[in-house]
Amino acid sequence: MTNTSDGVEVLQGRDVPLGGLRAITVRRTLPHRDRSFIGAWCFVDHYGPQDVAPNGEGGMDVPPHPHTGLQTVSWLFQGEIEHRDSGGVIGPVRPGEVNLMTSGKGIAHSEVSTPQTRVLHGVQLWVALPEADRDTARAFEHFAPEPADLPDGAGTARVFLGTLPGVASSPVQTYTPLMGAELHLNPGTTLDLDVQPDFEYGLLVDSGDITFEGEKLPLAALGCVEPGRRTLRIEVGDEPALLILLGGTPFEEEIVMWWNFVGRDHDEIVAFREEWQARSDRFGEVPGYVGRVEWIPAPEMPPLRLRARNRRGKVPR
Ligand code: MN
Repeated sequence: MTNTSDGVEVLQGRDVPLGGLRAITVRRTLPHRDRSFIGAWCFVDHYGPQDVAPNGEGGMDVPPHPHTGLQTVSWLFQGEIEHRDSGGVIGPVRPGEVNLMTSGKGIAHSEVSTPQTRVLHGVQLWVALPEADRDTARAFEHFAPEPADLPDGAGTARVFLGTLPGVASSPVQTYTPLMGAELHLNPGTTLDLDVQPDFEYGLLVDSGDITFEGEKLPLAALGCVEPGRRTLRIEVGDEPALLILLGGTPFEEEIVMWWNFVGRDHDEIVAFREEWQARSDRFGEVPGYVGRVEWIPAPEMPPLRLRARNRRGKVPR
């Protein structure tokens, strides 16, 4: 459902069960029927807090699967995940630490919750790579931002990508102008946050009674505003708030998203799928993953040609 008032577009998350043997259900706000991006952010999944070990065993286990044409950002509030990828990176994903994986032209990775993890809570985000950089090499960056004070004692921010003017910046590389931050806001505060007028922004509510630029945001909703604002007003009710703020300059390219791939047209996605099924070296091998299956096969292609997306959703045929 989309509800636009005072320039705030409110996208409500829809439940999506993720693939894999023991995966989790997420609340997905992007892509949405009416909006594909916040800047180059093209995928926003929010999950938990979810008990991933209800019987004292199991946990989340997502075997090796591919990506193309994107960066993934894993940001946890709770729990711990072990990441392995075909670039040779093995690393823990922990709360308050960003892990940015650049697929470039192709990567494979696995994600498994660590044995001591009972509850997972966080966001999984994708960034579309621009045409000029989408065939870049695989890469992985890790950064643990310190909490930075927000103005007027409103709370703290961990800026994991880009810049929150006057608050903090992240050294992690992006290919388009982009920002991402976790905000912890105190009850009863009104925050006027300085932002970049050439950016569009989206505010995701994990917890708290939030009014964003005059619009009430339900839990798990993403409130979106177009470029042109110099400040964003966030009003917090009687409980503390945990929020994710995403922003970037409008992404003007058309993309095709299907399964774990970002491409530019249907035929390219078909080719990516065939290369994954054939275990092509476009994606490489994930070292050391041990699970019940060695890799996740791609689903069948849908019967119709995939449609491209632009900023306003799917492009008419
Ligand atoms: Mn993945």
